[in-house]
Amino acid sequence: MSDKVRVRFAPSPTGYLHLGGARTALFNWLYAKHNNGACILRIEDTDRTRSTDEYIDEIIKGMNWLGLECDEGPFRQTDRFDTYKSYVERLLNDGKAYHCYCSPEELDKNRKEAMKEGRALKYNGRCRDLKEPVPGVDPVVRFRMPQEGSTVVDDLIRGTVTFENEQLDDLIIQRSDGTPTYNLTVVVDDVDMEITHVIRGDDHLNNTPRQIQLYQALEYEIPRFAHLPMILGSDKARLSKRHGATSVMAYYDMGYLPDAIVNYLVRLGWSYGDQEVFTRDELIKYFSFESVGKAASIFNPEKLLWLNSQYIMNSSPEELADLVIPFLVKDGTVSEEQELDRQWLSRAVHTLQERAKTLVELAASLRYYIAEEIEYDEKARKKFLNTESRELLVELKEGLDAMTEFSEEGIEKLFKDVAEQHEVKLGKVAQPVRVSLTGGTQSPGIFEVIDVMGKEKTVQRLERAIQSIS
Ligand code: GLU
Repeated sequence: MSDKVRVRFAPSPTGYLHLGGARTALFNWLYAKHNNGACILRIEDTDRTRSTDEYIDEIIKGMNWLGLECDEGPFRQTDRFDTYKSYVERLLNDGKAYHCYCSPEELDKNRKEAMKEGRALKYNGRCRDLKEPVPGVDPVVRFRMPQEGSTVVDDLIRGTVTFENEQLDDLIIQRSDGTPTYNLTVVVDDVDMEITHVIRGDDHLNNTPRQIQLYQALEYEIPRFAHLPMILGSDKARLSKRHGATSVMAYYDMGYLPDAIVNYLVRLGWSYGDQEVFTRDELIKYFSFESVGKAASIFNPEKLLWLNSQYIMNSSPEELADLVIPFLVKDGTVSEEQELDRQWLSRAVHTLQERAKTLVELAASLRYYIAEEIEYDEKARKKFLNTESRELLVELKEGLDAMTEFSEEGIEKLFKDVAEQHEVKLGKVAQPVRVSLTGGTQSPGIFEVIDVMGKEKTVQRLERAIQSIS
């Protein structure tokens, strides 16, 4: 077996990349990176009726978005049918597998009998020692599972898990149409791809003793296993759409940052003291299976949202400006061809990033900086754009218009002067301006907003507000 750590992420392309799959991919990726190893992407597409190329693309898109690119692959199992066949032949030749001619009706009858007699629901072994083929029947191939003793899974997370062999079925490794089944393809691929650590969801734990038996029959070294606990919804049921979006790319659409998702997913099962927020380098450095718990984790969308807001708060405005553009386009705030001045956009972002929990929110709040026109919130308009504030707005507009150099300090001084002259508090001046410029009553500091908005737009909007009063 390879000296270097080699892991694989092996999704079945029968759906989008969901949070559970992404976490499995992440733990594989982290383990590989931590050990300077390699991560292999293997597409388990043998179920041809449910697998699609579109899902393969979507899974890869999701992984790339999260920054979990693999070092090798994607390999597709449907390209490897000849390889699987040769392994099946080998097991047949060695007497470790056999042809089974039992019809579905017979198997069904056996199952019912076993159920009635309280025996384990498994194949009764009728074809195990058949000497001659049954003419006119396309047989399946079954693996001759040992019937005595036990198989021990030595798991990096679960510890030692023992399975009694008498509970293990003579599993079908090749269907009557010649196609291989999951347990065989996984073992063959893990052997061929020199996988040293199999890291996957613990819904596969029951398959592991069967796979170990196959390794032994093929006389290959058994890899290490790490079965990750499931992710559940708040009601302790397996995570599903009922608990909110589960597709990773849905989080892209909702304006989450990939690093926030990664940070959230890693904490579903893994911990490092009390630390909640990690850089990617820290994750790579600290990751180990010793700190992965056995218990299932509960998906908490509020915590994910909180983490996202932390990442937005701590990202550089330049980086956020790049990320928010597609959302501005989607909103219709800017057109696809429109070139925004990135430096200016970064300044606008900087004023807002502490308040936005998602890029969608950030884009929405950027709207008043960018759009030609704004709409007033009706309540805010009534309350603040009226005859009482008109004179203040006129004076401010004129003052701003006359300013040769536009700066936050200069703007602040003008506001203070106007407030003083009219013997009102600064807030009395600021709120009508805020409504005039942003349409609502909440925004970052008004001097900052004016400074970013620039003289021309500010004066225009004040003028419009004044007009709306008269
Ligand atoms: N293709 C399997 C799945 O998507 C994973 C199998 C494995 O990791 O061994 O559940």
